[in-house]
Amino acid sequence: MSELARLQQVQELDTRIFALRAQAERHPLAEEIAALKEKEGERVRDLQEAESSLERSGKKQSRLEAEVRAIEEKLAREEEKLFGGRVTNPKELRGLQAEVRSLQRQKDGLETELLEEMEEQDGIRSRVEEIRSEREGLLAEIAEKEAVLRSDLEKLHGELGELEREREELAAGLEEELLRLYEKLLAGKQNLAVVKVVEGICQGCRVELPGKEYDRFLKSEGIFRCPNCGRILVRQNGG
Ligand SMILES: [Zn+2]
Repeated sequence: MSELARLQQVQELDTRIFALRAQAERHPLAEEIAALKEKEGERVRDLQEAESSLERSGKKQSRLEAEVRAIEEKLAREEEKLFGGRVTNPKELRGLQAEVRSLQRQKDGLETELLEEMEEQDGIRSRVEEIRSEREGLLAEIAEKEAVLRSDLEKLHGELGELEREREELAAGLEEELLRLYEKLLAGKQNLAVVKVVEGICQGCRVELPGKEYDRFLKSEGIFRCPNCGRILVRQNGG
């Protein structure tokens, strides 16, 4: 194999290696997983919020229940006075009756509030269930995608390892000076150091070789570099 043919093969391998590395680094699943994790985090926050509303509502419920109990006790005392027969003064009795009615109204109001509070809690509880199952769905989806990503990356890294070994073997057979030039060009020319010339046009920089240069290139046996971009040129059909 000629030096140039070997160099061309090294470039082909490097191109595949760079593509695989980019694929591994920018795997579309990684982005999807990040978006799903973001959503899952939002569900966790929703859950915390719902749970603290539930706690607040529970406290309010206890407070309302205590108020109802206090009123019931007061009501029992007033009713005992009203119907116990010890109070006989009509004015005092009318006062007691008014007090009992007022307490009854207060109690009714509190009980309505209590009922509303408990309905609200039912609503929050079903929302909590909804968020929980949404979150579980997201977690399952994340785990599934992570497993696929892991196996994809394993495969990619396996392929990469093989290509890198092949590349090292080939590169070891190149003259050191040529390999140095190649690697310098590779780093400086967007990973493309060896390019074909198609119909007189360098496929690296897309500039046409001047007629004389093109003739020299066609007759050249060794390394010929693009007069415009400096890349190493090879003929379209190899050789
Ligand atoms: Zn060029």
